[in-house]
Amino acid sequence: MEILHDGDADLGVLNGKTIAVIGYGAQGRAQALCMRDSGLSVVIGIRPGKSKDAAEEDGFETLSVTDAAKRADIIHILLPDEMHGPVYDKEIAPVLTAGKTLSFSHGFSIVFGEIKPPKDVDVIMVAPKSPGTEERKRFVEGFGVPGLIAVRQNPSGKAKEVALAIAKAEGLTRAGVLECSFEQETYEDLFGEQNVLCGGMVDLMKYGFETLIEAGYPPEMAYFECIHEAKLIVDLIYEGGIQKMNAVISNTAEWGEYDNGPWIIDPSVKERMKESLRRIESGEFAAKWIKEARNGAPTLKAKRAALGEHPAEIVGKRIRSLFQKKN
Ligand code: NDP
Ligand code: MG
Ligand code: MG
Repeated sequence: MEILHDGDADLGVLNGKTIAVIGYGAQGRAQALCMRDSGLSVVIGIRPGKSKDAAEEDGFETLSVTDAAKRADIIHILLPDEMHGPVYDKEIAPVLTAGKTLSFSHGFSIVFGEIKPPKDVDVIMVAPKSPGTEERKRFVEGFGVPGLIAVRQNPSGKAKEVALAIAKAEGLTRAGVLECSFEQETYEDLFGEQNVLCGGMVDLMKYGFETLIEAGYPPEMAYFECIHEAKLIVDLIYEGGIQKMNAVISNTAEWGEYDNGPWIIDPSVKERMKESLRRIESGEFAAKWIKEARNGAPTLKAKRAALGEHPAEIVGKRIRSLFQKKN
């Protein structure tokens, strides 16, 4: 796959264009600040509340979603995925005139039919492969995080150039950008977060922690071992791959990895991952999540509350606050 860099992108295609960032949360704030620092003209479309206050504190002009969409050439939707459809239908579609660009950082609402854009607008994606905080931090350091771009509709003939220019303004082309389809980004992103990065990793940590405390080990020790240290291990893999991590850990740890790891995470896990990918690609996962969200997300809220009671979270909070006092 070709990796695109700064030289492949031209900020000039955004000269005289206004970008409305819709939503000012994790991604909205990070992306809006980076684009403004790169000289782009950015306004924020947001409802009254904490996010609006934050955008104004950061010195942005804030407008209602509709007024921002009306003003902008590029409407970059950074609302929670489950809100894209309702907000688009009521507040964006009525002012979406021919020649504008609809832009996203995740393809969920387009791929699963929550938003059905008219044919006469460009539809693009610029997706940083990072949480917003890290994205902003790397940009301020003078570099960037990697990203994906995708073009869904291109009546203007300029959609890819616009996506690349936004990626450049956010520092993504410094690290490297891949072009893919909306489906590829949506499915791989959901797969990764459900099976490896969030779901998967969190359950692995919790089982490890629970096994130790149920066997009578102090929760503080279990927390250090199964949760705190995970970052240090992942940092080594991030820097130099699994082999670098293996070179730094003890031979004993490396032997345990080879001997015990494939028994704990056995091939049946991969079979369930294949089934998970099937549920994502078939739209089953999306239908279930949208139904939950439309009902006021009772299960999500209950699980969120229950997690706050988990001993790993309670001991973790205490341990992390000790670190902060010492540092
Ligand atoms: P957040 O939940 O952090 O922020 C959402 C923003 O939308 C908030 O500012 C919220 O404002 C605002 N909002 C919610 N409902 C409305 C509404 N009805 N009208 C106006 N504003 C509203 O979302 P994320 O930044 O996490 O996600 C945004 C997009 O980026 C999603 O498509 C996501 O998949 C994608 N993405 C996210 C990543 C991440 O790291 N979080 C990584 C890559 C992509 P308020 O404070 O008023 O609720
Ligand atoms: Mg992701
Ligand atoms: Mg995601």
